[in-house]
Amino acid sequence: MHCPEEKKGLPAFSMGGFQPFTLSDYPGCVASIVFSQGCNFKCPFCHNGDLIPARWTGERFTATSQVIHKLKKKRWKIEGVVVSGGEPTLQPGLEEFLALLKEMGYKVKLDTNGSRPGILKELFQKGLVDFAAMDIKAPLKKYSLLSGVVVDISAIMKSIELIAGSGVQHIFRTTFVEPLLEEEDIKSISSELVPEGSKYVVQKFISQNALDPALRSTTFQGDKSGRGHSAM
Ligand code: SF4
Repeated sequence: MHCPEEKKGLPAFSMGGFQPFTLSDYPGCVASIVFSQGCNFKCPFCHNGDLIPARWTGERFTATSQVIHKLKKKRWKIEGVVVSGGEPTLQPGLEEFLALLKEMGYKVKLDTNGSRPGILKELFQKGLVDFAAMDIKAPLKKYSLLSGVVVDISAIMKSIELIAGSGVQHIFRTTFVEPLLEEEDIKSISSELVPEGSKYVVQKFISQNALDPALRSTTFQGDKSGRGHSAM
């Protein structure tokens, strides 16, 4: 993936957006959110469809250099940075970018779709992640349907195992997308895919901006998880 920031000696990290302040995306932490540009999934329920293309072509754009400059100033008194997307593990400079955040004294939360366990393993081994959140899109038989692409299930399983065994705080989450998922699917995910002892949440589906126009009129019907969970 081409990244113009590489030429300036900055991490090769394509920035899709930046939110300076959040109280709800990093549990227990006042944080900023960095959105990486580009995703290898095309989830029909995705409400960040403009982050899927490898290159940002719209009006909103934040240069990596500008974001780093803002984070260095720390004017929002934040403690952590959520690195989300898009899919951050596609960024060639992710490791360097996370190392820079750690050097600045931030705690790092990484959001991932779990498609690249090799990258996750490296990041965990290097101590660059303090909190990991992985979306478990669906029970295995529906994984490609909810991801919008053919998914390497072994990679998903490996990522779940790695995150659960990483020793860092983590959470698994599913967006309950009706009519693509049913209550039984959530129970299957909860009992068969979420490791014992890991936190699991079912998220509200925001239908308005769903990637698939056919989903834009559907509504969330409530708590469907098969085990106790809390909202983020
Ligand atoms: S919801 Fe799916 S398509 Fe959208 S950014 Fe996340 S993994 Fe990618």
